[in-house]
Amino acid sequence: MSHCPFCNKKIAMSKAFCSKHCKENYFQLIAIQIPKLFIKNIFIFCTSEQKDAKIEEFANRHGWRIDLVKDKINNLAAEYGYVHDDEISNYFMVRLYYFCNETQRKDEIKFFSKRHNLDLKELEIKIEKLAEKRGYKNKNESLTEKYKKMRS
Ligand SMILES: [Zn+2]
Repeated sequence: MSHCPFCNKKIAMSKAFCSKHCKENYFQLIAIQIPKLFIKNIFIFCTSEQKDAKIEEFANRHGWRIDLVKDKINNLAAEYGYVHDDEISNYFMVRLYYFCNETQRKDEIKFFSKRHNLDLKELEIKIEKLAEKRGYKNKNESLTEKYKKMRS
């Protein structure tokens, strides 16, 4: 027994793929080339809507299937250590912006970048953008002060 290289289903030794469909997908997936810079741009500087739009445009421009392009991008992004918005949890953001002062926030972000093996500068940009998007930014100083007063 051997395995289909695309879907991993068991197949006879004499066969290379389980189906024509898998054979086509497999070769298309290999043909898809995605520049590292493109992945960096969509994961660091785009909102998730912008990211989806860029991936769709990229796939269409090259005549590749969007689902395969997305698969490949997600795999590469994980390999390069880029995080999705949803991997930076709301809880983490609340802790950063509501319960930390600026120094503590910097330390927390540094620790997070080490733990997830991420580039610190890029993570800072990402978190700042998220904070802006979710409305945590600018509120933070006054809220931190408020909590401090409540706790003291
Ligand atoms: Zn297959």
